[in-house]
Amino acid sequence: MIQGDLKVSAPIRWATVGGGRGSQIGYSHRCAALRDNSFQLVAGAFDIDPARGREFGESLRVAPERCYPDYPTLFAEEAKREDGIQAVSIATPNSTHFAICKAALEAGLHVICEKPLCFTVAEAEGLRALARERRCIVGVTYGYAGHQLIRQAREMIANGDLGEIRMVHMQFAHGFHSEAVEQANPSTKWRVDPRHAGPSYVLGDLATHPYYLAEAMLPQLRIKRLLCSRQSFVASRAPLEDNAYVLMEYEGGVMGHLWASAVNAGSMHGQKVRVIGSRASVEWWDEHPNQLRYEVQGQPVRILERGMDYLYPQALEDDRIGAGHPEGLFEAWSNLYYRFALAMEAMDRGDITAIEALGIPDIEAGVEGVRWVENCVRSADAGAVWVDYR
Ligand code: NAD
Repeated sequence: MIQGDLKVSAPIRWATVGGGRGSQIGYSHRCAALRDNSFQLVAGAFDIDPARGREFGESLRVAPERCYPDYPTLFAEEAKREDGIQAVSIATPNSTHFAICKAALEAGLHVICEKPLCFTVAEAEGLRALARERRCIVGVTYGYAGHQLIRQAREMIANGDLGEIRMVHMQFAHGFHSEAVEQANPSTKWRVDPRHAGPSYVLGDLATHPYYLAEAMLPQLRIKRLLCSRQSFVASRAPLEDNAYVLMEYEGGVMGHLWASAVNAGSMHGQKVRVIGSRASVEWWDEHPNQLRYEVQGQPVRILERGMDYLYPQALEDDRIGAGHPEGLFEAWSNLYYRFALAMEAMDRGDITAIEALGIPDIEAGVEGVRWVENCVRSADAGAVWVDYR
C-alpha cells in the first residue's frame, strides 16, 4: 500500500515545458509528480507566451530566475547549475513533442512526454536511439494504465483465468466534439489541425490510450495486419478524422477491434477494453475504474473491486486508501509518476532489470503508439484496405 513514503532516495529535480495556466493536462502532471514527493518542481518553460509562463511559474512558487521564456533557454541555463533539473515533462501540443524531447535528451535529461510521442516512426525511432545512447528514461503518459485493475486484468490473462485469448475490443468514444466546438476552444482547435495534431485526430489523441491498455494487459500480442476506416463527421475537420474504426489481426489468430470517436453524442468518455477468452472475459471501463467485470461463461457476472484481497498481488501494489473508497485518474497518474521516478533512479545506477519490473509506458510504448497510428492512416487513406503491419 502507498502511504506517501518517499520511494526515491531524493526527490528528482523536475521542470515542465508547457502545461501552463488554462492548459488541459498541466495540472494532472503536477498533481501526479508532486503527490508522493518523487519529484520537486524547480523550473519550467510553462507557456508559449513567456510573460504568462513566468507569472504562472511564480504562482507555483518556482524561483523567478528559473521560469524561462522557452525550452532551449531552460535546458541551457539549468545545465549550468549544480542543482539543475534532472527530468522534464513535456505537456505541449503534439507538433512540438519531437523537437522538445530531442533537445531534452541531448541535454541528458530524463523525459516524461505526452502522447503521441511524435508524428512518424522514423522520428520515434530516432528518439529511442538517442535515449539509449544517453541512458535516459522516456516515459509516456498513458495515464489510465496507472489504474490498479489494469494490472489485475494482465495477471488474470497471464494466469489463464480467461482460457485461450480470442478477441480484444477497445474503444475510446466520447461525444464532446459532436459539433465544431473548436471554433471557440483553443485546446480543441489545434487537435483538428494537421500542422499541430499530426496525421490524425482521434486515432492519436484518443485511440492510443485503449491501445496501450490492451498492450499492458496482453504484452505478447503482435499485430500482423490491420484495416482502418476514418471519417470527419464535422466536415471542417477533414482531412483529420473525428471517428475511426480499426480491425486488427494479431499473430496466433487473435482478432482485435478499436473504435475511436469524438462524436459519440451523449457519451461521457466511453473508454473500454474487453478481452475475451475461450472460457471467460474481462472488461474495464474508465468511467468505473474501481471495478473490473469478470464474466465466466455459464456463471453470474462478477464485479471485482479495487483493493480487495482476492485480487492478484500486482493489483494491490498501488492501493492508496483501501477497498471501497473510490480512487480515480489522479491516483492512476501518480502511480505512473512514482514508477517513472523509480525508473529514472534505476537508470542512473544502471539497473535495467529493475526498470523492466516497473511495467511503465516507456519509449517502446511511445514508438508503438506512433507506429500504430501510422499504419492506421496508411490503411484509411488507401481506401480502408488491409495493410501488413510494419
Ligand atoms: P493545451 O492547448 O490545453 O495546452 C498546451 C500548453 O502548452 C499551453 O499552456 C501552451 O501555452 C503551452 N505551450 C505550447 N507550446 C509551447 C512551447 N513551445 N513551449 C512551452 N509551452 C508551450 O493542450 P493540452 O490539451 O494540455 O495538451 C497538451 C498535450 O497533452 C497534447 O500532446 C495532448 O495530446 C496531451 N494530452 C494528454 C492527455 C492524457 O490523458 N495523457 C490528456 C489531454 C492532453
